[in-house]
Amino acid sequence: MWAKMVIFNNMINLSNILNIMSDRSADARELVKNAWEFSKEAHKNQKRLSGEPYICHPGKVAFYLAEAGMDKDTIAAGLLHDTLEDTKTTPDELEKLFGKDVKNLVEGVTRLGDIKYRGFDSYSENLRRLFIATAQDIRTIIIKLVDRLHNVQTLEYHNKERQKRKALETLEIYVPIADRLGMSYLKKDLEDTSFSFIDPIDYKKMKHLQESEYEKDKKQIKSILNDLIDEFKKNKIDLCTQIKFKGIYSLYKKLKRKDGDLSQINDLFSISVIVPTNAECYKALGIIHNNWTPLPKEIKDFIAFPKPNGYQAIHTTIFREDGKALEIQISTHEMNLRSKYGIVSFFSPETLQKRLNKQLEIPFSTKKFILSLLGFFGKDKESINKSVASEKVPAWLRGMVTTQKKITRPDEFIKSLESDFFEHRIFVFNSKGEVIDLPIDSNPIDFAYALGKKIGNHFELAKVNHHSVPIDTQLKNGDIVEITTSSNSHPNKNWLRYVKTTLAKQSIHTYIKDRG
Ligand code: MN
Repeated sequence: MWAKMVIFNNMINLSNILNIMSDRSADARELVKNAWEFSKEAHKNQKRLSGEPYICHPGKVAFYLAEAGMDKDTIAAGLLHDTLEDTKTTPDELEKLFGKDVKNLVEGVTRLGDIKYRGFDSYSENLRRLFIATAQDIRTIIIKLVDRLHNVQTLEYHNKERQKRKALETLEIYVPIADRLGMSYLKKDLEDTSFSFIDPIDYKKMKHLQESEYEKDKKQIKSILNDLIDEFKKNKIDLCTQIKFKGIYSLYKKLKRKDGDLSQINDLFSISVIVPTNAECYKALGIIHNNWTPLPKEIKDFIAFPKPNGYQAIHTTIFREDGKALEIQISTHEMNLRSKYGIVSFFSPETLQKRLNKQLEIPFSTKKFILSLLGFFGKDKESINKSVASEKVPAWLRGMVTTQKKITRPDEFIKSLESDFFEHRIFVFNSKGEVIDLPIDSNPIDFAYALGKKIGNHFELAKVNHHSVPIDTQLKNGDIVEITTSSNSHPNKNWLRYVKTTLAKQSIHTYIKDRG
């Protein structure tokens, strides 16, 4: 688990990271070792507020990344993520020593750091979108999320006001991103840590409630678990089991919704059953229902109908001997991995290799997952295909999910995932701080038409980041664009040479035809 890993003296060292990395090659170990030494030296005159040497922070970030199975470059970038901002290190130096990939990742994380200072406090949705757009490489976001996790874990060394502000910012901006990326473990840790600073009293109450309930139920749950393992053995199904605790913040919210009635909450703790294949998930459900009475209406098949963020499992709730309920979640190893680490699991070489061996096309659930990241939801194949066909879906995305790509190399798959995500769109602000997304290379006229046909047809002047610009200026991610209109201003043929969007082109053509 992200935060639950016990490091006894809390000080992370290089071997902790090397031992948990999934890439055991000499190459990978060398890179991470060098990044550790470099970062330690670069930060040697700095301390964290806790009084610990600064390397503890990037060290912990790298440790979490290694734990989640990230690749060597991401782990190295985790170690180096604060060197550009806080030390004399230059991008050239990073590239020379660690390669272009690591340099780009560190630069990306540094760039994300600026976003919170833009001052659009009330636009967290916009910030979230910008956050995602600005990160050219999805691994940048993952490093940033883990960086934030360690920063909230060490908030106790800050004053009360900063604690609250940072914790709220985390809940409002970072948690939804983690959720959107399907990273449930990280989401839970970010939420619970933030909640403990926002509302320490309720946090302690909830934690105590969960612990005391578990103390009471422990024996019975363990005996159910043993019976379950016996039944599966009889049926010759391999399984792993785990007792899961509901997140504290999620418990707090649910209890509030249920007017504080604890008996309404069936997943205070739950049993997770992991089996080898999809078919065995359904067999497992049969075995469970054959031996315990399930609660009607509590059977949820998220394998056939995955959640929007890609989550898959079967949930059922059974009656225990004492009449209380117990939730059981059934999934395969792959689903379990995906439910913990979300999009990160695409980067695990093993998962990808498995796909390659099977020569699979991008599976339907992955398409669905990709679509959901961009805000397109649908329950079944038909509605997904329908929403893909709808005009609202950008063409590049439609192309990506409709072509049956054969994956031949894992890095190719990652590349296509990333480039289709980020390389074709830019996200810019209007003067109210709202985000408009446009194709790359769009200019102020495209922007004006995106705001409305009238605004486009009477476009006069544009300012970008408060400076007047020519109409052929190419907009960049994060630009703030203001448009001045005038009733005397009209589209002319010249505009067609610059505009990029179909909307602008069609509007200009129509205007000229109608008037001409
Ligand atoms: Mn940091």
